[in-house]
Amino acid sequence: MRITFSLLLALIALPCSAWNCLAQAPYAIAIHGGAGDLPDGKGQAARMEQLTKLLNQGEKMLADGAAGLDVVETIIKQMEDSELFNAGRGCVLNEQGEHELDASIMDGKSLACGAVAGSKTTRYPISLARKVMTETRHVMLSGQGADQFSKLMGLEQAGPEHFVTPEQVKRLQRWKAKQSTSSLNSYPTPKEDPGIYYGTVGCVALDKQGNLAAGTSTGGLVGKRWGRIGDSPVIGAGTYADNKSCAVSGTGIGEDFIRFHVASDIASRMKYAGKSLAVATDETIAQLPEDCGGVICVDSKGNVHAKHNTPAMSLALANSQGVRQIQLAPPK
Ligand code: ASP
Repeated sequence: MRITFSLLLALIALPCSAWNCLAQAPYAIAIHGGAGDLPDGKGQAARMEQLTKLLNQGEKMLADGAAGLDVVETIIKQMEDSELFNAGRGCVLNEQGEHELDASIMDGKSLACGAVAGSKTTRYPISLARKVMTETRHVMLSGQGADQFSKLMGLEQAGPEHFVTPEQVKRLQRWKAKQSTSSLNSYPTPKEDPGIYYGTVGCVALDKQGNLAAGTSTGGLVGKRWGRIGDSPVIGAGTYADNKSCAVSGTGIGEDFIRFHVASDIASRMKYAGKSLAVATDETIAQLPEDCGGVICVDSKGNVHAKHNTPAMSLALANSQGVRQIQLAPPK
């Protein structure tokens, strides 16, 4: 009888301690809405409001035990629907006045990843990237092939009337008017073109199961040559996640982020040189050309960090240890 009673106690105690463990497990989230210059006053208030709402939602999902990948996709989908950011609806337009959307997502547990480049008809490119990750043997699909696969997967489709907004048509006109003076080999920075705001979106998360996830979505750079692919869908450049180091999402001049393979450079400094998240991130950003962009990062202990070298970067960070920060122009 005594043995049976002890066994019963053990059976109750085991799930209880596992439950306690999960309840106290660290979690962390970081969201960005792009780097560049500060938007005007009205744009600032709207962006702060949106970031606050998304941070609250993401934090609650993680506290309730949601998987990091689900949180990343849920947050980015809403940013893709918001005209405030350069992703999905309201994205910047290429030199022909068209939208071409790039996105990627990565699972830090398995290193599984998926990306799309130059999508034109998928309402939520981040969801298409996730389907590439889970439903194909590939990492990246582009152009018509990506959108055909999207239809095959039953993802929601949308036309130019959804993606192209009057604000972005005007922005492209303003940008074109300045082009006679700009260099063909580089992209204007906020110093050369005051008011320029890149606006890509990203989210990184550590969930209570100890898994890291990262995602990024963008319309690219205003006035880009059609067919141009930036860093956002390039795993290791704009997005990276590895449970052994960190999860990263970047924003800025994609060509430089590819040259410096920014996201995986941060992870490698942690993994091979034993650097902390903050030191690894700051070292990587310090190597970039001036006024180039920024990143958000979380590590497997629940530390969160952001770094940029542009005048501004929209970001929201929180973790279970009480960090909470929502800012449009954080100190560099
Ligand atoms: N990195 C993106 C690109 O070059 C742009 C951005 O961050 O806004 O496509």
